[in-house]
Amino acid sequence: MAYKAVIGLEFHCEMKSHTKVFSDAINGYSKKSNENVRPLDLGFPGTLPMVNKECVRKAIEAAMILNCKIPEYMEFDRKNYFYPDLPKGFQITQYFNPVGTNGKIVIDVNGKEKEVLIHDIHLEEDAASLDHYYDTSTIDYNRAGVPLLELVTEPCLHSADEALAFLEHMRSIYQYTDISDCDTKRGQIRADVNVSIMDENDTKFGTKVETKNVNSFDAIRKTIEYEIKRQSELKDAGRYDEVVQETRRWDDETGTTIRMRSKADAIDYKYFTEPNIPRYRITEELKESIRKSIPMLATERKEKYIKEYNLSEYDAGVLVKSRKISDYFEECISLGCDPKSACNWITTRVLAEVNRVEDSTIDDVFVRPAMIAELVKLIEDKKITNNQGKEVFIHMLEDKLTPKEIVKKYGMEVIEDDNLIDTLVDEVLSENAQAIEDYKNGRTNMLDYMVGQVMKKSKGKANPVSAKEKLLNKIK
Ligand code: ADP
Ligand code: MG
Repeated sequence: MAYKAVIGLEFHCEMKSHTKVFSDAINGYSKKSNENVRPLDLGFPGTLPMVNKECVRKAIEAAMILNCKIPEYMEFDRKNYFYPDLPKGFQITQYFNPVGTNGKIVIDVNGKEKEVLIHDIHLEEDAASLDHYYDTSTIDYNRAGVPLLELVTEPCLHSADEALAFLEHMRSIYQYTDISDCDTKRGQIRADVNVSIMDENDTKFGTKVETKNVNSFDAIRKTIEYEIKRQSELKDAGRYDEVVQETRRWDDETGTTIRMRSKADAIDYKYFTEPNIPRYRITEELKESIRKSIPMLATERKEKYIKEYNLSEYDAGVLVKSRKISDYFEECISLGCDPKSACNWITTRVLAEVNRVEDSTIDDVFVRPAMIAELVKLIEDKKITNNQGKEVFIHMLEDKLTPKEIVKKYGMEVIEDDNLIDTLVDEVLSENAQAIEDYKNGRTNMLDYMVGQVMKKSKGKANPVSAKEKLLNKIK
């Protein structure tokens, strides 16, 4: 039987900032373990946290975009527990008074609008990372104290599609605002996935099962689909009492979730307000200055591309899919490039190159916006034909040269020399008496055939438009 699924997400995201959230260690990727570490990150006695303003601004910015209620004060709490990755014995988080509460945001799910309710969003610190080997475990404190933004939705999502659409929407917001790169390869996102099922007409939610620390979009989708199936099958078999409040984990190898512990084993974190961080007033001026700094997000950019540049809904969607692509497109336009042409080159050739080279982004493509603008201008000015433009593009990637340099290197300029084209046209006409006859008898495609002959003689350099005009004039 099909049941109604209820899903709530706790989405953790490592923030982008120069330094960590409570110490001045660098917040950045390092190949070397324990490099970006200060005494505070190791929990040394006598150290005191210093709140990173940049992180506070970004957390407030995220809360604003999610239409949350912002509290009067920024304040932090201690979540106490012991674990080797947490040398202080507590995590600094926001429990009593998160930076954003009661938010909502409208997202697009396969073409339909859906409002997602946000329970809260809060700023906290990440723990160190543990690596387990055969008979040892190691701890890397590079991650200890990295700013984390945790967002908790209400149980208002009803399918894996809705959950994923929401997460993709959030990733886009985080990337456009520079709050986070959301790079899954660097472990920058993790989600706790809460799933329950109920009969369509039930008024009471079913038992919620939490799958913790799922760290890729793909695994989140699979977790949701697996849990809905597992719980439904138990319910169908009259064994719904076996669905219990518990914490599970996703296991990629078996494609299943595996029980870790019961909710009854949950520890009491004994939360209390962090005494070492004085509360900090979120003034109207601060809010105003943050509000003003919110950049244009994907949804607005897409609307603009459709309205101002007459791009199709589909093309605009492709361009705003990532901020890097959208920025690339806008740079082409700021260099005077026609938006439609820029869009065509990007959505076909440039993105094909990104797809071809594994692990690359548009930033890695040799062809830069200035080169696209130059290429489009060469075609607009009829210096080269459209087809030659495609060749130029391929050569640019191979030879690492600009469009003008390629045109020069391969002698691709269109022949604008009227006399030369005239000569070639005359040659073609004298060689194709039959084709002319056929053309006059209604086989109009013969004209294209003869244009092709002129192009061939000119080694592709004649301007096909003027070749066609001349042929027409002379046949009459
Ligand atoms: P807990 O006290 O177990 O942490 P919360 O009420 O704080 O539970 O909710 C944690 C997450 O679980 C939230 O994202 C919330 O939306 C989700 N959630 C709550 N109840 C359900 C339910 N019945 N089914 C699915 N998700 C739920
Ligand atoms: Mg919770």
